[in-house]
Amino acid sequence: MPDLFDGTPDAPPDPPRPVDLMNRIVARRLGKPGWVWCRSEVVGEGDDASFILDGAVPTGVISKGPRKGRVRWPKDLERAIVSRRDYRLELLAWEAETGKCHPCHGSGRTVASVKSGPPVVTTYRGCSRCTATGRPPKP
Ligand SMILES: [Zn+2]
Repeated sequence: MPDLFDGTPDAPPDPPRPVDLMNRIVARRLGKPGWVWCRSEVVGEGDDASFILDGAVPTGVISKGPRKGRVRWPKDLERAIVSRRDYRLELLAWEAETGKCHPCHGSGRTVASVKSGPPVVTTYRGCSRCTATGRPPKP
C-alpha cells in the first residue's frame, strides 16, 4: 500500500483525494465528528505497525498572517493509536460502503509523482489495488 499518510491538505485535488480513514476511525472512537490528526508517528513494523496520531477538532481557520488559511488547532491535542489492523478493517468497510477502491477513490488512478513548481506537475499511474478499474478487489 502507498503512503498511508498521503493526506496533506495542500496536495492537488485531482483525482479526488482518498478519505482519510485515520480521521474516520478516531472521530468515531472519540465520538468527535470532525476530528483530524495533525501529527503522526509510526511504531512497529509490518502487520504489527501502529500509528500514533495527535490531533483534535480544529477550532477554525487562521484569518491573517503568514499562516492564513491554515487550520487553527486547540491548545491541547488528543492522542490516539490506530493499529494497521484497525486501518485495514476501516478500509474494507469504507470500500463496502461506497463501492469504490480506496487508494484511488474510484478513479482508477493514483498519484505517481508531484514535481514542485512552477508549474506543479502531477503524474498519475493506474491504481495497483484495483488494477485501474476503480472498484474494490473481491476479497
Ligand atoms: Zn484503485
